[in-house]
Amino acid sequence: MAEKQAGLAGEPNPDCTVTAKAGPEVSSPGTSESRDYDSNCVFCRVAAGQEPETELLYCENKDLVCFKDIKPAALHHYLVVPKKHIGSCKDLNKDHIEMVESMVTVGKTILERNNFTDFTDVRLIICLKS
Ligand SMILES: [Zn+2]
Repeated sequence: MAEKQAGLAGEPNPDCTVTAKAGPEVSSPGTSESRDYDSNCVFCRVAAGQEPETELLYCENKDLVCFKDIKPAALHHYLVVPKKHIGSCKDLNKDHIEMVESMVTVGKTILERNNFTDFTDVRLIICLKS
């Protein structure tokens, strides 16, 4: 089984790393439009295609984007990020469980697509930006 590790930040890791970066989607009905995107957030800019040096990888989930870590700490080091800006873990709630599970699935799929199938050697890190 895959080793799963949930931490507060992405630390350098061994052979294979999937970093699932989750931040909460702070939204209440009617007031969410400007909170989905934060121009100060590098992940928002990547998701919006505004970081040309970051190549987005194919992602089957339309709510997520995935790409290689700009400073890989492992041979396979990918980030899976929700398109909607999530700024702090404090705002995560049970409504986000499905999204976080999708991030795990997408991360595993990326690894499989890159011929990495030894899931006994996978670190999953949930990065929560404060
Ligand atoms: Zn963001």
